[in-house]
Amino acid sequence: MISGATFAAPPSQKGKVMADYDLVVIGSGPGGYVCAIRAAQLGLKTACVEKSPTLGGTCLNVGCIPSKALLQASEKLEEAKHGLGAFGVKVNGVELDLRGMMTHKDKVVSANTKGVEFLFKKNKVDRIEGTGRIAGAGTVVVKAKDGKETTLKTKSIVIATGSDSMPLKGIEVDEQRIVSSTGALSLPEVPKRMVVIGGGYIGLEMGSVWQRLGSAVIVVEFLDRILPGMDGEVSQQMQRILGKQGMTFKLGTKVTSAKPTNKGVTLTLEGAKGGAAETLETDVVLLSIGRRPYTDGLGLKEAGVALDERGRVATDGHFQTNVPGVYAIGDVIAGPMLAHKAEDEGVAVAEILAGQAGHVNYDAIPGVVYTWPEAATVGKTEEQLKHAGTAYKVGKFPFTANGRARAMNATDGFVKILADQATDKVLGVHIVGPDAGHLIAEVVLAMEFGASSEDIARTCHAHPTLAETVKEAALAVDGRAIHI
Ligand SMILES: Cc1cc2nc3c(=O)[nH]c(=O)nc-3n(C[C@H](O)[C@H](O)[C@H](O)COP(=O)(O)OP(=O)(O)OC[C@H]3O[C@@H](n4cnc5c(N)ncnc54)[C@H](O)[C@@H]3O)c2cc1C
Repeated sequence: MISGATFAAPPSQKGKVMADYDLVVIGSGPGGYVCAIRAAQLGLKTACVEKSPTLGGTCLNVGCIPSKALLQASEKLEEAKHGLGAFGVKVNGVELDLRGMMTHKDKVVSANTKGVEFLFKKNKVDRIEGTGRIAGAGTVVVKAKDGKETTLKTKSIVIATGSDSMPLKGIEVDEQRIVSSTGALSLPEVPKRMVVIGGGYIGLEMGSVWQRLGSAVIVVEFLDRILPGMDGEVSQQMQRILGKQGMTFKLGTKVTSAKPTNKGVTLTLEGAKGGAAETLETDVVLLSIGRRPYTDGLGLKEAGVALDERGRVATDGHFQTNVPGVYAIGDVIAGPMLAHKAEDEGVAVAEILAGQAGHVNYDAIPGVVYTWPEAATVGKTEEQLKHAGTAYKVGKFPFTANGRARAMNATDGFVKILADQATDKVLGVHIVGPDAGHLIAEVVLAMEFGASSEDIARTCHAHPTLAETVKEAALAVDGRAIHI
């Protein structure tokens, strides 16, 4: 057995037991690879099984990283075309080089996936190429591309097989004209028109990319609001701001079919509650109505591993499934389908397996929408607090009143802090604004430490920074914001 190296079973070893491990992780996304590295750091002999030729899972290959590379690149184009003039910077002849943009994205993906390869070698995690199947507690059978099987014996197994795009009845994804988020990351040319089905964060991010590159984007959403699950005020503001940028929204509307034609795609739409059908012609359709847990080929039924009512691997508070020695983390279990949630669970389960007290605080997991401006959220929304009957105070501060935001010409949005009426403990923070994804980190840390809004308000914030909006919102909880 080669330590810290890729291996595929040679023919003579077909069906043989290859090695004894403390831990075999199935899946190398942010949940799986982080879990494997942490376990190896803690002295566990660890292997990670991955069916794709590159490591890093959805996040690094077709998720967080390539989408952010394109968002960043398209933001630069937008700024060069429409934003720099206001700063007294004249630029002429700005043009899109789509191939160049895709090359940038591919390079970023490759650097990240190779980075995980390096980290596996550094930490002596064995990378095993092939599809893993659980053949009972303590046994993982890996089938390589050529059909050869290798059996790994292990004390523990962590399932980290992630998620896949959710399908929609009546719509067949061909990744040409009707694409999932994966196809939307690699369109060969800018479509004149694009319909995005689903107003969640992936739809809005990818819709923003193609809109900045020149597409007329219509977002069709079944619910009567975009960004379901986020604070209602954030959804409203985001819709208003993205609308100003040219994105069109058809809310409370369902798509019942999408048929490719010679010219593009014909969609049939209906009101969410029924009503007359209408058709809509477009060039490309992005289907992004959510993601579903991925457990295909894992042999969970045969191994007796229970799923919950939504097809996710059922786990207890320690990531243990109903089968002793089999654990699960990341998108394949309950909770927000986010890379950092998967990573934190990976660390926690590795620490539990090494006899430590691994733990994830689900009340302090941020969520970020990387549009421009960004939306970032952590903790409870106003709707959730109302529903729970929790008495709370609100402190709000707009970016229009922040000196740095004015200097940046980026004054859309606000910071909203929700604090417990009686104790002043911060219960939730919601930000729409420039760099909201970075700004939220401060309040996540504050919440992790059980901070009150008073704690944030009395913390010195550098001037002039966007972060001063967080301090001012905290001051506003008590009605004493200075700059508004
Ligand atoms: C377009 C897009 C943008 C996103 N942007 C963000 C973002 O900005 N921030 C964020 O936090 N999240 C984002 N996400 C979500 C994020 O990618 C997921 O939450 C994260 O990847 C989940 O990690 P995971 O380790 O659970 O699973 P995954 O990353 O899905 O990895 C699972 C891995 O398991 C492998 N696998 C599956 N079955 C087997 C098997 N039987 N044997 C061997 N290998 C197997 C798969 O090939 C895959 O590599 C985005 C997702 C998409 C699609």
